[in-house]
Amino acid sequence: MLRVLILSSAFVLVSFNLFGQFESNYEPILYTGTIPDHFLHSAKEKITSHLEQKDDILSKKEGEEFYTSTNFELSKILLSGEIYFNDKLTKYVNSIIDNLLKEQPELRKQITGCVTKFTAVNAAAWGEGTLFINLGLIARVENEAQLAYILSHEIAHYIKKHNLEQFKNDKEVEKSIFNKANEMEQLFAKLSFSRENEYEADKYGLEIYLESNYDPKEAANALRLLKKSDEPDQTHQLDLRKIFETKTFTIEDAMLYTEKTIEKEKKDQEDFLVIEVKVKPENIDEAEKLSTHPNIDKRIEAIEFATKKVGKSKTKNIQGAQLFKEIQKTATFEIIEKQFNIGAYSRCLYNALLLLEVFPKNKYLVGVVSRSLYWIAYYQSINSLRLVMPNHYRSDDPAYKSLLYFLNKLDNKQMLQLCYSYSKSKPNGKENEALVITIPRVLDMLNENEKAKKYYKLYQTNFPEGNYIEFAKYKLGE
Ligand SMILES: [Zn+2]
Repeated sequence: MLRVLILSSAFVLVSFNLFGQFESNYEPILYTGTIPDHFLHSAKEKITSHLEQKDDILSKKEGEEFYTSTNFELSKILLSGEIYFNDKLTKYVNSIIDNLLKEQPELRKQITGCVTKFTAVNAAAWGEGTLFINLGLIARVENEAQLAYILSHEIAHYIKKHNLEQFKNDKEVEKSIFNKANEMEQLFAKLSFSRENEYEADKYGLEIYLESNYDPKEAANALRLLKKSDEPDQTHQLDLRKIFETKTFTIEDAMLYTEKTIEKEKKDQEDFLVIEVKVKPENIDEAEKLSTHPNIDKRIEAIEFATKKVGKSKTKNIQGAQLFKEIQKTATFEIIEKQFNIGAYSRCLYNALLLLEVFPKNKYLVGVVSRSLYWIAYYQSINSLRLVMPNHYRSDDPAYKSLLYFLNKLDNKQMLQLCYSYSKSKPNGKENEALVITIPRVLDMLNENEKAKKYYKLYQTNFPEGNYIEFAKYKLGE
């Protein structure tokens, strides 16, 4: 028993250490330092340099067309503000590529790992060696090795020039079924082609991967993870009463999404004779064609077979488990920041509340909850709620649905009061910049301008260098 106790307290200490830096606050990644070269070369420069290299897949004219379109697209993405640089995520991903291509320095030079702010669980290889790795993928993988396998697979797409082939094939498909086929047929024709590319990328990707020190078993696990990527990540019901109820804000039963509500919704639907039409693929093959990761079960099987006999003395995290956890958590925080910045306030609120269960004292997360509630209330007040928050009918995730149901039950005054009481209830709230500026904005909307002024003053005193200092001064008539 004592041993168990010692062990478990050691575990608590370790896990506390692991996440120590996220316990009290989070600072979103800012773009700093010198902009990397590959961001700066113009599309035209890149096109010219590619045209000088010969390749046997495309004709000169096709090559021109291919490199022109991909490079302009690439420049657009690089300059969109959606790609990180000089940050720890990009550094981490590129260290994995270093590990994978240790023995192939020439190839390594051609590959650039870029982390995107996209939340889809995915990665992509661009024709000229740029690999895009989404935040959504980094947040979801279980270890460095899984990320390494997906990178190996993308590197293989690049080596095998699949983009060039794909480009040529797309053109032929368009030509051959020109006018006759509908869009879906065209899409399927392209998909069955890329399916072969996927097998090939797995095969060569696995060769690269097995040369490294990453655990062979994690290759198949990475694909299993992609298979589940359309499902929501760790999601579970939030205890809304525990989170939001205070002395000044009570949650009535009717605001909560319960069994009773579900029954009632069913009955309402029957009453209106709503017939639900579901598009269901006729058979497995059809379902396969509609999937974003076609044939994944067969790919998993093939990889399991190929890795069965490979030795075990390899690792899941070459750069260490602690760094992986840090990177993964950083990606989770960055997803919340991204969702806030694009105005996906209910989604961002939900993810922040989930992460607050792990880091209940995190100032950044508390601030995000408060600010999201404020903006939801603001859009509600100008009759534009649907721009920032869907109706609960629209969600397939029961836990998120419950939160949406609750928020949709509140009128504008209640929404503002919820934001106010939540922000007020936080200990040490006066040291949280986001709260000190959100509270008076809510009070203004509730027409409690005198009370609001006290907070603008407090903001001025506590955050003289803060982001909202000019705004606070303006509100105080200074
Ligand atoms: Zn692929």
